[in-house]
Amino acid sequence: MGIYADNAATTRMSRRAINAMLPYMDDIYGNPSSIHSFGCQAKDALEEARQRVSAILGCSPREITFTSGGSESDNQAIRSAAAIGIRTGKRHIVSTAFEHHAVLHTLDFLKRDGFEITLIDVPESGLIDPEQIRESIRPDTCLVSVMYANNEIGTIQPAAEIGRICRGKNVFFHTDAVQAFGYLPVRTDILQVDLLSLSAHKFHGPKGVGLLYCRRGISLTPVIYGGAQERGKRAGTENVPAIMGMAAAMEDAAADMEKNNIYVTELRNRLIKGLSDIPHSVLNGDTKKRLPGNVNFCFEGIEGESLVLMLDSKGIAASSGSACMAGSLDPSHVLMAIGRSYRLANSALRLTINERNTPEEIDVLIRTVRESVEALRNMSSDWKDLIEGKREFLLP
Ligand SMILES: *Cc1c(COP(=O)(O)O)cnc(C)c1O
Repeated sequence: MGIYADNAATTRMSRRAINAMLPYMDDIYGNPSSIHSFGCQAKDALEEARQRVSAILGCSPREITFTSGGSESDNQAIRSAAAIGIRTGKRHIVSTAFEHHAVLHTLDFLKRDGFEITLIDVPESGLIDPEQIRESIRPDTCLVSVMYANNEIGTIQPAAEIGRICRGKNVFFHTDAVQAFGYLPVRTDILQVDLLSLSAHKFHGPKGVGLLYCRRGISLTPVIYGGAQERGKRAGTENVPAIMGMAAAMEDAAADMEKNNIYVTELRNRLIKGLSDIPHSVLNGDTKKRLPGNVNFCFEGIEGESLVLMLDSKGIAASSGSACMAGSLDPSHVLMAIGRSYRLANSALRLTINERNTPEEIDVLIRTVRESVEALRNMSSDWKDLIEGKREFLLP
């Protein structure tokens, strides 16, 4: 049995989420759009799920649209705000350099429609200063999009404060809360958000399902055209089993949040402490304002990718950046955004733990990462140059 420490990439489904899905793949298999009783049963379940998730988020069921996940929700949130911007003559959007690619690539796409995008620089702490957001908002700004918690370095952004600034300036605020849910309170009223994205597979729900919260009065633009499902906002037969699984997973994540956070934070601190002793290493992102389960280090003189492969051979699942970067040789845009050099950004290891990890596993992680970093350094010509003084160390 290996150790799974890549929970920011995806999580194992909970038994309750799996069980919540089964009836909707079996007896209750109707299409929610059908008017016969098979369909009505599915429709009732769908609307009950909408009711349950909106209760957790503190909004009205009508403000929830079910989607295929975080990426789709981000795409739709931004494109909807942009469509309103086009109608009102506002073609400027404020976001940050370390957003998820679902946000950044959607913004790139909008440039072709004549949008101007301001990406706020991220300080080394990985914490966005709300004042910088305030200063970047212009009369033609239609949207601010800032993630609630970063998926690589786990830093937690002052979403409620940014929300307040945006509301004061009459600018839409979208937050990608995909990594936050289950660890931070996600209440749409407290965060003062207009649009918010969630994805079920990051909190023990199924993959390929998520939701988009859209505040009443704001019209969503479809990304997928077709039938009139989801009040015409998202065509395609609803994935009823997955939606039922997500609702169950959301309830558990919200109910267990405080208990899990205490436990996971303790494990994480132990892990950070154990890895900090490795010479010429640095923890990426603020130590305090970070998700309970996130650990992200740069180890000078090694390749993060090689470390991940070596750990895998020893039964440990980790990541060198985000899952989306796998197979790409580009260093993480998040680590580059917080000012790490190209070389250092390529030396990163992300370990993301949760309530299913044990203290014994943390000790194995510490020991195995230490050994593997040492082994890789001994094989590295880059490391040889550093210790022979041919190049200066970047990290103490
Ligand atoms: C995983 C993730 C996404 C994408 O969600 P999918 O459901 O996998 O499309 C978006 N944003 C963040 C911050 C994520 O961690």
